[in-house]
This record gives sequence, C-alpha cells and structure tokens, in this order.
Amino acid sequence: MSSDQHDQVKTICPYCGVGCGITVQQGEEPGDVQFMPWGDAPVNEGRVCIKGGAATEVVDHEDRLTEPLVKEDGEFREATWEEAYEYVVDELERIREEHGPDAMGFFGSSKTMNEENYLLQKLARRYGTNNVDNCTRMCHASTVWALRTSLGAGAMTNSMADLRDEADLFWIQGANPGEQHPIANSQYFRQAVLDGATVIQVDPHANKTTRSFQIDETDRHQHLQLNPGTDIPLLNIVLKTILEHHEEHPEDGWIDEEFIQKRTDGFEDLQATLAEFDKAAAAEECGIDLEEIERAAEKYAKADNAAIFTGMGMSQHACGVDNVQNEINLALITGNIGRPGTGVNPLRGQNNVQGTCDVGAMPNVLPGYQLVDDDEARESVEEVWGFEIPDEPGLTNVEISYEAGESIKGLYVLGENPVMSEPDANSVAERLADLEFVVVQDIFMTETADYADVILPATTWAERGGTVTNTDRRVQRMRGVENVHENTKHDLEIVSEVGKRLFDDGEEQFDFDDPEAVFEELRQVCPIYHGMTYDLLGEEGLHWPCYEPGDEGDPFLYEDEFDTESGLGQIEGVEHQPPAETPDEEYPLILTTARLEEHYNTGTMSTRSPTLNRQTPENFVDVHPADAERYGIEDGEYVRLRSRRGEITLEAQVTEDTKEGVVWTTPHFAAASANKLTNHVLDERAKIPEYKAAATEIEVDVEPLGETADPAADD
Ligand code: SF4
Repeated sequence: MSSDQHDQVKTICPYCGVGCGITVQQGEEPGDVQFMPWGDAPVNEGRVCIKGGAATEVVDHEDRLTEPLVKEDGEFREATWEEAYEYVVDELERIREEHGPDAMGFFGSSKTMNEENYLLQKLARRYGTNNVDNCTRMCHASTVWALRTSLGAGAMTNSMADLRDEADLFWIQGANPGEQHPIANSQYFRQAVLDGATVIQVDPHANKTTRSFQIDETDRHQHLQLNPGTDIPLLNIVLKTILEHHEEHPEDGWIDEEFIQKRTDGFEDLQATLAEFDKAAAAEECGIDLEEIERAAEKYAKADNAAIFTGMGMSQHACGVDNVQNEINLALITGNIGRPGTGVNPLRGQNNVQGTCDVGAMPNVLPGYQLVDDDEARESVEEVWGFEIPDEPGLTNVEISYEAGESIKGLYVLGENPVMSEPDANSVAERLADLEFVVVQDIFMTETADYADVILPATTWAERGGTVTNTDRRVQRMRGVENVHENTKHDLEIVSEVGKRLFDDGEEQFDFDDPEAVFEELRQVCPIYHGMTYDLLGEEGLHWPCYEPGDEGDPFLYEDEFDTESGLGQIEGVEHQPPAETPDEEYPLILTTARLEEHYNTGTMSTRSPTLNRQTPENFVDVHPADAERYGIEDGEYVRLRSRRGEITLEAQVTEDTKEGVVWTTPHFAAASANKLTNHVLDERAKIPEYKAAATEIEVDVEPLGETADPAADD
C-alpha cells in the first residue's frame, strides 16, 4: 500500500465534472469496497446523485482486467508485465524509426487524474509529437476555443457558489444540468430559482432540467424548444432585440455602453452583422414564435446579474465555436461578466475533463494553455523538461482516428474508448483495425481494447491518489484504498515505466512513483497551478488561477480585465450555418443526442453497475406523437434508426419531450449507440464533431435487437 492508500479515504466521484466528494471504505477483503457519504465535502456537503452513490459497484466487478494481455494469432493471452512493457517499448521505437514520431497518436483520459495526463502528454512530447488529445475534443473543444480566444481562459468564468448566491437569471442553452450535473442543479441552481431567480432554457428537448425549474405558475420559467442547429439565429434575435430596444430607450440600460467602450473590442462588427438580420425569418427557422424569444431577451437584459450556462447542445456542432461566441457577445454587450452571478459557464462533462486540458493533454497547448507554437511559452517549458518540444500543433483525437492506417500507424490509449465515443463509430473501428500497433491502458475490456495488441490492466479511481479539477476550476485531491487486484498497476506507474524504458534520459524524465512528485513538476510548468501544493489543496481544494502559494484562487474571473492580448473581451458577429446534414427525402428526420442521468458516456463503468442498469437497461429513442402517427409507431415498439453511416435498433418512446421531425437518443449502449449514426463533420477551428444533428430515417416492424448493457449486472 502506498502512502496515499488507506482503508477509508475521502476522494472525488469518478463520473461528472461537479466534483462531489465521497468516502470509499474498504472491508477485510480488498474487493469489499463500499461507498459512504463525505458529510462536509466542499462541493456537495454529503449529497450525491444516483451515479455517485453507485460508483463503487464497479470497482470489484467480475469484468475487471487483472493481468496484462498480448494478442497472438488474433487472440489475447496473459503475459507478464515485463513482456508487455517490452512489447510496447519495442513497437514505439520501431514506429518512430520506420515512420517518424508523428505516426503515433496518444489519447489521454478525462476519467484519469491530472498527474497521469500530465505524464502522458510529456511522454508524447518527449517521443517527438504533439499528437496528444483527450475527450474534450468531443465535448467542449469549441467552448474552450471561443472562451480562450475571446475572454482568455477555456473554463467557467464563475463558480457554482457565486452563481447560486448572486445570479438573478440563468440562461441555459444546450445544457441539461438536471440530468448531467444533478448535484450542481439541485444544490446550487435550483436553490437560486427557489430564491427567486428566473430561468430561460434553450433546448430542442424537454428534460429533467425543464421539469426541475417549473416550480411555480409564474412567467419566470421559459423553455425555448428550438430546432436543432438554430442556436445562432435564436441568439441573433436576442441580440438584435436588445440593440433595437437600446436605440429607442437608452435610459433602460439594456446594453452596458460603458462596459462595451472600456472593456471590449468588436461591437461594430456585431452591429454590422445584425443590421440586415431578419428576426421574423430567423424565428421561423428556429421553430419558435418571435414574441417568445423577444420576451426572453427582455428578461436577460433586465436582470441585475444574468449568467449563461452552455453545454454540448451548443458545442457539438460544426459551428460550435460561433455558437459559444454568440453567448459571449450577449454577456459582453450587457456587461454580464466579471462579477459574481454572471458570465459564460460551460458545465464540463467528465470528472477531470477540465484538468486534462489544464495539464496540456491537447495537441495545440502545453500545461496551462501555453501555445506550442508560441516560442517563449514553449521554451519556458523546455527549460524545465530539458528536451525540445515540437513547435507545430499536432492532430486532434478525431483526426488521429481518421488518419489511422494512413499517416498514423500506432495508438496509445489511456482510458478512452474512441470506437464508441467518436462519431461514425463503425468506420472508426474499421480504421483502428488498420493500425500497426495499439496499446490500451484500462480497467475493463472496452470496444477499443478489442483492437489492441497489448492491454495493460490499470487500477480504478478508488484505488489511487492524485488530483482532479472540476467544472468550476476547483482542483481537489483524490485518495485511494488498497489495490483490489494485485497485478494491476496505477496509470501513473505504467506511463512512468514506459517512459523510463523508452528514452535514453527516461530515468531522469519519468522516474515518478508518487503523484505528489508529478504535481510538483506540473506546477513548475503550469502557471495557473503554480501556487498549489498537495498540502495547500487540503480537503477544500483551490480554484485556479492560483499563481503563488498563498493565493486563494479565483472563484470568478475578469473583474478588471480579460486575459487576452489587449486585455479586452472580443465581440464578433456570427451568422447562421445550418447543420451539415438537413432532412431530405431519404432521411427525413433530424437525429439529436444527449446523455442520461443514470449512465455515462460509453458506459464502460455505468453499464456494469447493477443500480444504474436497473434504472435504464438499454437504449431508447424519443419520437414525437405526430411522427409516431405518421410512421405507425406504438409507444414501446422497437424501431430501426438509419443514417448514412449505420443503423441501430431500439425501443421507441412516444413523447412530446421532443419536437416533431426530431428524434432523440443516447450514446451509452454498445449495440445501439447513437454514435453509429452521428456525423463526423468537424468545426473548422476546434475540430469538434457535429454530434447534435444527423439526417435519419425510421423503419418500423423490426425485431428487438436493443442491447441490455450487461445482463450479469442485473443479478
Ligand atoms: Fe458524481 Fe456528478 Fe453525481 Fe456529483 S453530480 S455524485 S460528481 S455524478
């Protein structure tokens, strides 16, 4: 047992980015690992959602990978760690010699810790490539891009606590915290609403967020149920309504002229973009009455403190950067940023997706979002590391998958599952089969691990220590109990061992057996973490930026200036770009996707949890009653969804939660994952795929082929 392992530990829930604290208790047997509440945990004060309460159920699941595996004649056989390491190192060396370092891709994991991702991106860069990325590419890459370039930091501008205490209005667009961030929703946002805050929700689908905020009969709660992919026209109506009103009634102060003048750049560009904009035509495109949108605009403009929440409904589009930029425009022209209860706030998905980006597991940035092509920044990191870093941004994970078998010859996957998580999943699987070498580090046999040559069995989140960074930039410590399976290893130890064996200076660069030692190096190269140490993090954690020891960390950003080159927030008018696929004769419906409260992403952990499976054992699709009538679909009947990329069979739920012409489903279940249908078209700048809109057809009279996630888990 390492110094970070005990039989009862306070740690952080492994699922979503809220960062709830939980206690893990280990009994007499190593596999007897139980959840217990952590009563005074800083974020959640002991409360958890269904996933947090069930998190320990998978730690000793019978499917755990317990021994290293190597593939021989198409079959996996057990191997020693020595043999597995040798295989990995030999293949990494061979690929670099034969094809060069850019023939490898490295996938970090937002389910693993800051220290592990820091070390993996260092390994990639020491290998000689910036081809390293993580699943933020699939969730908030566009949000991070827009926030970073227009405001300064790719993260929430505010904290959950100041939003609860100070916001008068929540504008929630393309986010569903009621389902995907349940404790943030119940403990922070709903509390604000009970105290009188107004909610405008913009989403094509009615969901738990809609229902959780319908707490009285007043006009405070509005749901704008727009057509998928019409977020830009909707926000342009809002922006133009505010500008028009200000022209006629400047005394009402709907826009903040002083803020625009002193703290922003580009207002004229927005005015020019909206000059000829036709609000009535745009409202028709959105599928909502113009007056409804104007009413929402008025509420936002009149609020003392208005906060925007943005989610994957905004980011997962080919125009994802522009979607988020338009939210930034709204906050900037009304001066709703730079003080408590305001701002533009992405609710981050996985428990450490924020931290994985912070520590540099991305192809264009080093730790602390320092650009790899900025000579000064790169050289400052090189000085600490003692080796040269490639100066061109690398490929993103989606690009790596699409180059597999072409320029990419090998893949190192740390705890990710691209065969299920990426769009057009069938073709991702085909391309991975063309690779010369794949190594996967994971806790279960994933759909991606099927394509591996070597599988390295890792310990779970409950068995190891480190730090994770939640959605409001709070860095918190995780602690682990004893290993459940003695021949599994911590991700940190595995990456460290590969590094030590792979490079001449490996013993110097990768000799870490303790996450705290890695964190100490990380803070030397990551200015926003520089003021943190394990001791200073304590049990409360610290918000970044935290530049020097003793800094308290900033719960809200940009009080005096933005972190852009000019110090000004960047306004930029954006125009409507419809989704790459729109309905046609062959595919007359629009498919859109989202996650459920009871499951998580590719279901690697959640579909193995008996508690979570009892809630939702298989995938389903929401169909509007008018579409159900047209196709002759009964509620509960199995249907087949088909897109240009694949098909899935699943149960239809006939409901007005979705709009006519729009079908809605989830990516969690392997046999019927929405990602067999989704479109891989990318946002040009952030390279995030357009998961949220794909042309689709429904077939009826099919046999039920929908998958029960893990029948054994229902026992
Ligand atoms: Fe875990 Fe998120 Fe639920 Fe909190 S809200 S218990 S972090 S899944």
